[in-house]
Amino acid sequence: MTEILTDRSGLLPSGPPSEVVVARDVDHVRETLRRAHRDRIPVVTRGAGSGLAGGAVADAGAIVLDVSALDRILSIDPVDGVAHVEPGVITADLDRAARARGLFYAPDPGSVELSTIGGNIATNAGGLRGAKYGVTRDAVLALDVVLADGSLVRVGRPTIKGVTGYDIASLIVGSEGTLGVVVGATLRLLPAPPETATAAAFFPSLDRAAEAVAAIAVSGARPAVLEIVDAATLAAIDEAEGTRLRERGEAFLLAQTDGFGAERELAVVREAIAPLAADLEWTSDPERAEGLIAARRRALPAIERRGRVLIEDIAVPRSRLADAVRGIQRIAAETGTEIFVFGHAGDGNLHPNILTGGAPGDPISPAAEEAAERIFALALSLGGTLTAEHGIGRLKRSWVAREVGDEVHALQRRIKDLLDPHGILNPGAAL
Ligand SMILES: Cc1cc2nc3c(=O)[nH]c(=O)nc-3n(C[C@H](O)[C@H](O)[C@H](O)COP(=O)(O)OP(=O)(O)OC[C@H]3O[C@@H](n4cnc5c(N)ncnc54)[C@H](O)[C@@H]3O)c2cc1C
Repeated sequence: MTEILTDRSGLLPSGPPSEVVVARDVDHVRETLRRAHRDRIPVVTRGAGSGLAGGAVADAGAIVLDVSALDRILSIDPVDGVAHVEPGVITADLDRAARARGLFYAPDPGSVELSTIGGNIATNAGGLRGAKYGVTRDAVLALDVVLADGSLVRVGRPTIKGVTGYDIASLIVGSEGTLGVVVGATLRLLPAPPETATAAAFFPSLDRAAEAVAAIAVSGARPAVLEIVDAATLAAIDEAEGTRLRERGEAFLLAQTDGFGAERELAVVREAIAPLAADLEWTSDPERAEGLIAARRRALPAIERRGRVLIEDIAVPRSRLADAVRGIQRIAAETGTEIFVFGHAGDGNLHPNILTGGAPGDPISPAAEEAAERIFALALSLGGTLTAEHGIGRLKRSWVAREVGDEVHALQRRIKDLLDPHGILNPGAAL
């Protein structure tokens, strides 16, 4: 039961909910919201609960609205390049279904096998392929949304292009369940790349790996995947998976090119990073490549074996990646914390994972708290953001105004008030 009240952030509910509703269909969602609107009951919508920001953690007295059972892929149209799906579809299931028709669904968070499309939309999830294909917003064409009062609207359109009126679909993307409940989505699919080529490079320092990212950025190549992993994370992966990655260097970069000419493009990547790398291998064998990518996907569970972690999610301009890496290392040393760093380097998105000890729900240690605060400040000082893809949730609310400024924060609140006048939709999150 407690599982349905929290997510993967380690945050515990503030108290028992008033009710858990497992939605059977769209009418069930509408009826639940109508009732909540009338009786002023907060509603916390949830998909798979794989979120890392405390977005789907139940508040005392709230209705927990689980939409994960609405999980049908309603249609895939290869000519239009679109899929129409319900919100509970697991991200990887949509990708597999698309591939069976010669297409693919580009956004692929590390949690693809767990997360739902609705949760991805509500958090504007990124993923490994973001370096080339962007984030969930780039794949959303239209949404069916149940508003706070239970009314159902369709925003956006099923065409690839279209600019009539304000772009409300984009406003819903990333709104963390605070503006409406997504009950359907029309998503863009792309032709499945015929070839991939993958390079794994190890570096004598994390700094050097960050320099390699800059070298790739100006090389003319555009890898679909460009992931960075530090030494501490490599050691954790080795311990969990029985691999021997750590002995090969202090940092690891994984680059994958795709499409016609993938090998040629990877040659450009290899040329850019060879002078910086200590050890470089590459393959065009999809199975071997999948092994390397799978190791990267398992980074977070591997770190979590060491204890509770505070998972941060900053992004900085790619040109400041090396400064961010150096800054995080300094913060770890000065606060006496253990920080594991990996991330989507192609997007300038780093996940510093601060080991905080204790069990889920225990208070975060003061040292870990200080390290997190200093990492947020570092990101902002480098022209970055405090959350690139996980969302603000309940964990980072106190920092929103510091990033966007008081005026824009107030504007966001006015938008929220307009769409949700009684403030029932996930009131503890996002703003
Ligand atoms: C191992 C691991 C790796 C991860 N890797 C990545 C990564 O690479 N990139 C990334 O972006 N994230 C990653 N995540 C975080 C997480 O998987 C994403 O945030 C994901 O989008 C959450 O989807 P979910 O279905 O689990 O949503 P939940 O956790 O259930 O909810 C997340 C938020 O969305 C809202 N919500 C959920 N469904 C709806 C809906 N239908 N309508 C309106 N609001 C809704 C909730 O209220 C909440 O605010 C990772 C998590 C794990 C555990």
